[in-house]
Amino acid sequence: MSFASPPPMFDIAQLFPELAPLAATSMRLHPRRGKPELRDSSVSGPLLWPADDPWPWCTDSPYEHDEPNAYQPLLQVFARDAPTMFFPDGCDLLQLLWCPNETCSPEGHPLAGCPRPLARWRASADVTDVLVSPPTPEVVSDEWFPCHPCVVSPEPVTEYPYIADLPQELQERIYAWEPTVDRSDDEGNYQYSLSTVPGTKTGGHPNWAPIDPRWPACSCGRRMTYLLTIDDGEGGATGTRWARQDYDHERETGHELMLKGGLLAFACTHCPDAPLDYRCT
Ligand SMILES: [Zn+2]
Ligand SMILES: [Zn+2]
Repeated sequence: MSFASPPPMFDIAQLFPELAPLAATSMRLHPRRGKPELRDSSVSGPLLWPADDPWPWCTDSPYEHDEPNAYQPLLQVFARDAPTMFFPDGCDLLQLLWCPNETCSPEGHPLAGCPRPLARWRASADVTDVLVSPPTPEVVSDEWFPCHPCVVSPEPVTEYPYIADLPQELQERIYAWEPTVDRSDDEGNYQYSLSTVPGTKTGGHPNWAPIDPRWPACSCGRRMTYLLTIDDGEGGATGTRWARQDYDHERETGHELMLKGGLLAFACTHCPDAPLDYRCT
């Protein structure tokens, strides 16, 4: 399947030249139900997991499960499908799993209300002996359960930073420009139509809406780099650029993850093991 995102109505980098060097390419993944194989990028698909790597079990929850609960595949993405996303040297595969229970992220945790993920970086060529039957979680919050394995169809789209990630002075000039756009819709709204794309994607810029930017810092003290977003849908609000595309069938053909917002993943590009951290919007 191939997808073509609607082009922007305005060339925002021509209107505000200081945005030009901030342009970044994001790959929209457009997950749709299918039969992903072990060596395919996928959402809720089978993971290329080495037979000798113990499967992770969640032992965190005080509420949802008393016994350890098997983690569940959430996303696996190969570098060939995420050419603008960071991978550590020697790795070409990122796997994300989660325990599909929201109370495993307790109150006060940055991911409170969103299942907590767990990540593995891998060199796919090293995985020759693959785990055949990974365990499945016994306890699953119904609303999270991603029961539809999805294939992905990566599509490159140019993005600009989230409005609140821009210098204050530039934000103000963009806010002053928006009402001058003679349109009855939101196609001239920087945040909704001209900066970041909605939906599941790798690389580019994070969309923080509706929260304020909270870039995670690594224990080494450096700010982490944005990796990807997992979202429950890719349609935009009515009147925005993204609403021009017809996503009516997404409900029947998408992954049906019922996330409350986007799950954003970040990594430290300096520490050798490239640790991840997450935000839920
Ligand atoms: Zn759990
Ligand atoms: Zn670090």
